[in-house]
Amino acid sequence: MDHLNKSQEVLEIPEREPARQQYFTEKCAELVSELSKSLGRPLTCCINTFGCQMNARDSEKLLGILEKMGFEESDSEKSDLVLYNTCTVRDNANQKVYGRLGQLGSIKKKNPSMLIGLCGCMMQESAVVEKIKKSYPFVDVIFGTHNIYKLAEIMYNRLTGKKMVVDIQKEAEEIVEDLPVERKYPFKSGVNIMFGCNNFCSYCIVPYVRGRERSREPEEILAEIRRLVADGVVEVMLLGQNVNSYGKNLKNPVTFAELLRRVNEIEGLERIRFMTSHPKDLSDELILAMKECDKVCAHLHLPLQSGSSRILKAMNRRYTKEDYLNLVERIREAMPEISLTTDIIVGFPGETEEDFEETLDVVRRVRFDSAFTFIYSVRRGTPAAAMEQVPEDVVKVRFDRLLKEVQAISAEVCGRDVHTVQKVLAEVMDDHQEGYVTGRLSNNTVVHFPGDESLIGKIVDVYLEESKGFYYMGTMR
Ligand code: SAM
Ligand code: SF4
Repeated sequence: MDHLNKSQEVLEIPEREPARQQYFTEKCAELVSELSKSLGRPLTCCINTFGCQMNARDSEKLLGILEKMGFEESDSEKSDLVLYNTCTVRDNANQKVYGRLGQLGSIKKKNPSMLIGLCGCMMQESAVVEKIKKSYPFVDVIFGTHNIYKLAEIMYNRLTGKKMVVDIQKEAEEIVEDLPVERKYPFKSGVNIMFGCNNFCSYCIVPYVRGRERSREPEEILAEIRRLVADGVVEVMLLGQNVNSYGKNLKNPVTFAELLRRVNEIEGLERIRFMTSHPKDLSDELILAMKECDKVCAHLHLPLQSGSSRILKAMNRRYTKEDYLNLVERIREAMPEISLTTDIIVGFPGETEEDFEETLDVVRRVRFDSAFTFIYSVRRGTPAAAMEQVPEDVVKVRFDRLLKEVQAISAEVCGRDVHTVQKVLAEVMDDHQEGYVTGRLSNNTVVHFPGDESLIGKIVDVYLEESKGFYYMGTMR
């Protein structure tokens, strides 16, 4: 009889996506509802996201699926399901996950029916999965970056079986559209325009854990943004590891500049941001589109990584110090008001004092609004891991010098709009000062000003009264 039921079930399961996952979502919803009845309370889930905006967007999709199954969101790690969406760009992100997994294990000892899941970039590394299987056997589900859409099926397999479910896809297959999503903010949203990366910068693990570059069809992107706008979104952040190479692999190729112009036409949308731009692919066509599209924000994140042409070559970045400075000049000429931010790595293998001075030189010349500074972290399997490493104490001193320089410049540059009235998107209630709202200018600088909940999600005029270095204090006009 059981055998008959099983084959009946196999016949019922749709083969194609997203129908297959809809089927498993409904099956999980039945199981969750039974469990919840027996406990006399709803089941809760907590997703903890590490890393970049891509992961943040993936977590919104994961939460969307879990809510469809009947889970209620919670921020407590004592929830019925705790899911870590991991990052592996630098080793400290990995270490953080191992540390916290130990703590989760102790919580689970007190509540054995609790479920623990791990997903994201770290899980695409087989050595990590082996370590978890061996040292953290209490983990219930493990999946990777290419199959987050399969969460319902993975959860169903765990809920109907006894063992840890490990489902990692080595390569990305199709892009599965139309997943349920639960947005963190009602008024702004990330929108994936592409997945993966083909650049293989010699220090970076992303191409290995996120796969090759795949662009979404422009119609899918535009339809998603239109739906978001109809649902109250006023700002979108177009997401890709290198948005400037968007559309190259489509059957009918489209440039990122063309996509930007089409997104700009969407009625009701107020602000467009995007991330990340690789300097080697930033075209004059894109600069012109940014200048001409009124909804594109006055901010560009343009990762430098190093100011030394020699190191840039070793990093496989495919631009020189002069190319970068030249590009900045062209951007500033077209958009003098634009705010520029960047990423810089200190201590890449073989970096000499002279190379580091070149980085400082670019920082002083460009005068970035802000910069994310990172100490080079060895990533197993990347070409730079086999190169000669710079001693840790030397890197630490350089890192502190760079940080000081970046912060001093940033404090001078960020206040340039003081005593003017600017458009501000009110985003959250200020957690430090009661009765204040925190918002962002088009150039991404933070502003705090007196206001209430009713302003959240609205774009308002604010007089920037005082510059505090990295943010402003203002009043509404
Ligand atoms: N695709 C983006 C780009 O090309 O700028 C960024 C992706 S990565 C998640 C974000 C930043 O992490 C990079 O810009 C780089 O500065 C830093 N990063 C990547 N690999 C690193 C490593 N092995 N050690 C230190 N920082 C690293
Ligand atoms: Fe990593 Fe380079 Fe790709 Fe960015 S462009 S994700 S740094 S390989």
